[in-house]
Amino acid sequence: MSDTPFRAIGRKSIRPSATPRDLMAEEELAGVWTAQVVTLLPEAFPGVLGLSLTGKALREGLWALRTIDLRQFGDGRHRNVDDTPAGGGAGMVLRADVGARALEEAISRARGDVPRLLLSPRGRRFDQAMARDLAGRDGAILFCGRFEGVDERLIEGFGLQEVSLGDFVLTGGEIAAQALIDATVRLMPRVLGNHHSAEEESFSSGLLEYPQYTKPAVWEGRAIPEVLLSGHHARITSWRQEMAERLTKERRPDLWRDHLASQGLPEEDREL
Ligand code: SAH
Repeated sequence: MSDTPFRAIGRKSIRPSATPRDLMAEEELAGVWTAQVVTLLPEAFPGVLGLSLTGKALREGLWALRTIDLRQFGDGRHRNVDDTPAGGGAGMVLRADVGARALEEAISRARGDVPRLLLSPRGRRFDQAMARDLAGRDGAILFCGRFEGVDERLIEGFGLQEVSLGDFVLTGGEIAAQALIDATVRLMPRVLGNHHSAEEESFSSGLLEYPQYTKPAVWEGRAIPEVLLSGHHARITSWRQEMAERLTKERRPDLWRDHLASQGLPEEDREL
């Protein structure tokens, strides 16, 4: 499959459309973590990724984004990308041959260790460990499904890894792709800036984050916990640790069990 010759489709088709050109990678994809997104909705990018910290990092070249407009690889005058499901049933399915042409184009541009992912509710649930893993690679190719999804042979032929955002169904992979890219990019050096640490957040230690407070000291009769205003760093650290453990134990018994196991402790030995 991956040795299918690249089919020339004209210069225009490999340009991101209706997106701020200066935000989007064009020729120089080497050397910086690059997301290449195959989508029927290229105008949905960079979307929220173009704003705030991820947007600033994009403009500074700390990561790059390139959309590949699936429509440009469609068949015939109308550039058809989908057809009715074999065997009948509702909706439309994205064609394998059309998807393949778009993926070949992305692969021909990719440099280094670049996993090929399909956003899909059937996939492995995306989590912080996957974000960390992805951030350590050279980029990712992300295929966004639409309608009823994609022809199974595309997944097999390209060895696409299916990744899910959670147990719910979106109308397309674009929001999922943006969530995945956001979680990945913010782990890269310099994206969050010095003032912001990804080290103390939820999941980084296998625990949910402790509660946060800021001014005013009293709001509608609710005071900030006294320990946080004490200036006593050791007490603050242990209070935060205790709260993180309590929250995790209450809300996410699954994470709590994993956390205990990672510390080599049986559950009954760790009463809060
Ligand atoms: N018929 C499919 C759902 C298709 S939804 C099914 O029942 O499994 C259309 C597209 O939205 C999918 O191809 C996928 O790319 C995207 N999508 C929907 N839910 C998603 C989720 N939870 N995580 C990631 N992508 C999702």
